[in-house]
Amino acid sequence: MSRSVFVTGGNRGIGLAIARAFEASGDKVAVTYRSGEAPAGLLGVQCDVTDPAQVDAAFAAVEAQHGPVEVLVANAGVTRDQLLMRMSEEDFMAVLDANLMGTFRVAKRASRGMLRRRSGRIIAISSAVALRGEAGQSNYAASKAGLVGFTRSLARELGSRNITCNVVAPGLTDTAMAAALPEERTAAMVEQIPLRRLAQPEEIAAAVHFLASDAAAYITGAVVPVDGGAAMGH
Ligand code: NDP
Repeated sequence: MSRSVFVTGGNRGIGLAIARAFEASGDKVAVTYRSGEAPAGLLGVQCDVTDPAQVDAAFAAVEAQHGPVEVLVANAGVTRDQLLMRMSEEDFMAVLDANLMGTFRVAKRASRGMLRRRSGRIIAISSAVALRGEAGQSNYAASKAGLVGFTRSLARELGSRNITCNVVAPGLTDTAMAAALPEERTAAMVEQIPLRRLAQPEEIAAAVHFLASDAAAYITGAVVPVDGGAAMGH
């Protein structure tokens, strides 16, 4: 079975690992990118998820090449860390716009074809920080916690049409996003992780790939942690 899979932010980091996992199992995979070039072998569509017109155009391009999107992975995300006292309206809104509103935009657009086909998989990439919080990440945590309520609402709305909607909540993962943190902060965070290491992007991809598989057909509205135990109990 070769499905039409669309991964936002699939040009690098966790998103690219997710895209490669689907590619390896024979799916037709499209990814968004904003600048530079799309990764070799994948269909790249230029798209900033904060722009509804670009989202619509990207879906039209994917549909033209691969058919309606059957598996959507809303992975694109940003951080703009700052303590509350110094957090500007702009930094708060920019993170909500990309992480939460961006997922709303792509899920809404993808659901159109999924409703028509009466099947589909929507997977949102949240974070361990969503439920446990993190100093300096109030905007990011709010956006990622918002994804939980958003996705669970979709699970209820779309379940009768055989569309499953789930969240994957990674812990600190070895990508550019984690590399941007000061070394001492990373070391302190790793101390708090029961498995005492960062996740590899492929470990996040494995959970996403499973949630999109036939074996996961009866899983919806779940929040699946892939965090080395970091957010246990949250
Ligand atoms: P990276 O910073 O390595 O990659 C971010 C990806 O998101 C890039 O592909 C980037 O595209 C894309 N992106 C960001 N903003 C937009 C936008 N407005 N429109 C389209 N694409 C956009 O991060 P990761 O791979 O680490 O993160 C992927 C997801 O996983 C994010 O949602 C992140 O919040 C989440 N996550 C990451 C963790 C970590 O420790 N790394 C932990 C928990 C969750 P471009 O190349 O064009 O910039």
